[in-house]
Amino acid sequence: MARYTDASCRLCRREGTKLFIKGQRCHTDKCAFSRRQSSPGQHGQQRKKVSEYGIQLREKQKAKRIYGVLERQFRKYFDIAANKKGITGDNLLQLLEIRLDNVVFRLGLATSRKEARQLVRHGHFNINGKKVNIPSYLVRVNEEISVTDKFKKSTKLELIDSIAGGRVVPEWLDYSQDTYSGRIVALPTREDSNDIEIKDHLIVELYSK
Ligand code: SF4
Repeated sequence: MARYTDASCRLCRREGTKLFIKGQRCHTDKCAFSRRQSSPGQHGQQRKKVSEYGIQLREKQKAKRIYGVLERQFRKYFDIAANKKGITGDNLLQLLEIRLDNVVFRLGLATSRKEARQLVRHGHFNINGKKVNIPSYLVRVNEEISVTDKFKKSTKLELIDSIAGGRVVPEWLDYSQDTYSGRIVALPTREDSNDIEIKDHLIVELYSK
């Protein structure tokens, strides 16, 4: 499947905000956005007037980049969200939050969503005891996410635990650090995504045109 393979830090500069794609590095003074905030490219320093459409587009791109989702899948999430009961923007963020790679990240079993995606792809996680290597898998309430026995013994997990292990796990998740396992206790609400600065109404407006 197509993936964005260019430098991740360019995306932060493009969106004009930190997207926290690189995990630990994002919190250090090595962060490229902290050092240079202009858009990448030859004309990045120029101030441009942004249209209403441009503002909506940037918000959508930002959400996609934070969660590491490509356009087709993101659009699919939007269609599901729009057809569900409730507020479309809230539904959209909920779908993004319950993706397996995001849940792994939220549990503190990866330092970034990007790393979580890679770890899931490499088959390091079980759902209810069965290996699942699909980052977009939508985790259901009460399904148990655990690390495989092999990964549990790895130095990689030790390292991740030393960096991300102290992170506060959101209330919609239950996590046991002793067993490296967790589950969704209740579906995340809009407030649970408040740490991510996304104006979801702009995305809804964009796709509703
Ligand atoms: Fe963005 Fe992280 Fe790179 Fe900083 S280090 S520019 S937050 S990806």
